[in-house]
Amino acid sequence: MISLEDAQQHILAGIGPLSVERVFLDEALGRVLAADVLAVRAQPPADNSAMDGYAVRWADVSALASELGCGDDLHPTEHAGVRLTVAQAVQAGGWSDRPVGPGEAARIMTGAPLPPGDDLLVVMREWTDEGDDSVLIRQCGHGPGAHIRRAGEDIQEGEAYLLGGRTLQAPDLALLASQGVTQVDVRRAPIVGIVSTGDEVHDPGTPLPPGHIWNSNVSGLKALVREAGGIPRYLGIARDSHESLREVFGRIGGCDALVSIGGVSVGDFDFVKDVLEELGGEQTFWKVAMRPGKPNACGTVAGIPYFGLPGNPVSSMVSFLQYVRPALRRMQGSADLYLPTVDAVTTDELRTRKGFLFLLRGVLSRGEGGYVVSTTGAQGSGIMRSLSLANCLVAVPEDVDVVPAGARVRVQLLPWSHAGQPDPGLRLP
Ligand code: AMP
Ligand code: MG
Repeated sequence: MISLEDAQQHILAGIGPLSVERVFLDEALGRVLAADVLAVRAQPPADNSAMDGYAVRWADVSALASELGCGDDLHPTEHAGVRLTVAQAVQAGGWSDRPVGPGEAARIMTGAPLPPGDDLLVVMREWTDEGDDSVLIRQCGHGPGAHIRRAGEDIQEGEAYLLGGRTLQAPDLALLASQGVTQVDVRRAPIVGIVSTGDEVHDPGTPLPPGHIWNSNVSGLKALVREAGGIPRYLGIARDSHESLREVFGRIGGCDALVSIGGVSVGDFDFVKDVLEELGGEQTFWKVAMRPGKPNACGTVAGIPYFGLPGNPVSSMVSFLQYVRPALRRMQGSADLYLPTVDAVTTDELRTRKGFLFLLRGVLSRGEGGYVVSTTGAQGSGIMRSLSLANCLVAVPEDVDVVPAGARVRVQLLPWSHAGQPDPGLRLP
């Protein structure tokens, strides 16, 4: 028997990134960057105003500033103020080469580039009394640069502002667009073949003989493949015979990875193994010291990574998340392979068996001093609703069989961890 960590390391050792393809930004959400992206220009490209107001020289307003002891956080006060001549105006999209001279102010809009001039600052409009050709400065920020966004303060030219291996999120796409980028190089999304096995399994929408079941796993696994960034390709149901397994497994052409469901437990085990051997490759049939997640097979088939998942619906999805998901992330060149974990206090006493890492389905929520977690009740590996109700998996390590209520546990967030949980909101009580 091997540990979950060892199984994960064995799997990842044999897996490398797929090739690179170029996609438009609109298709890039959730894709993994193939290489660092370097800035072609500074962002912002030029010093510009953070406010609608007046660009003035610090020398003209410093006395006012020190008299009022003012800073960015002070509100306007009654004061004689400083009167300056409004010598020019710059709008967003405009440009001025005319310096701001002594005793002068330049009317300026948010986002407008600053005119040349020594030690300029921007005084917000609300802190002025505006005349026709002049402006009375009543209050100002402290020091040169107040209310000015400096060229390159966000991104400097040549800087690697997004690193290879990053899964692109909404702000990253905005950053890329701010650099004028229209297409990015990402790793190809793995096409994951899914084979279901069993005489008793039928796809929903087809008639169900007595005692048979509908194929629930494929729908769940297809969704998990998508969540992991892959493209699911359902290859069909193989019946428990060599011929049928041979036929359905024979459809893997064009796939980057293969997942089979069921048929790896003692009994049907040999059928699947025989057919996989015919297809070429090597499989290791492991017993991983983890529950749920009965017998699992991993290795290669016809040159692509292969994962034999258990048939029990909960086991198949929990196993997918522990073994297949990290592998699919690695194939995309992702730096983040694993689901995030947090610590929480368990509200229930947890009873398991020594020698196995138990991953119990739980509901994580906000408690008084931090996260609390409770289990979703019966944990049988066929009890699908308990996984649907869960937003996390509670880990009970191999060397523990009883965790008392109130103890701290490590919890793995499920990809849908934010779904269906009432949230108390952002305000502290
Ligand atoms: P097996 O690993 O083939 O022995 O299957 C273990 C259990 O999982 C059995 O109860 C099967 O009926 C069930 N099972 C196998 N494949 C599926 C599937 N695609 N959807 C739902 N249940 C399945
Ligand atoms: Mg079976």
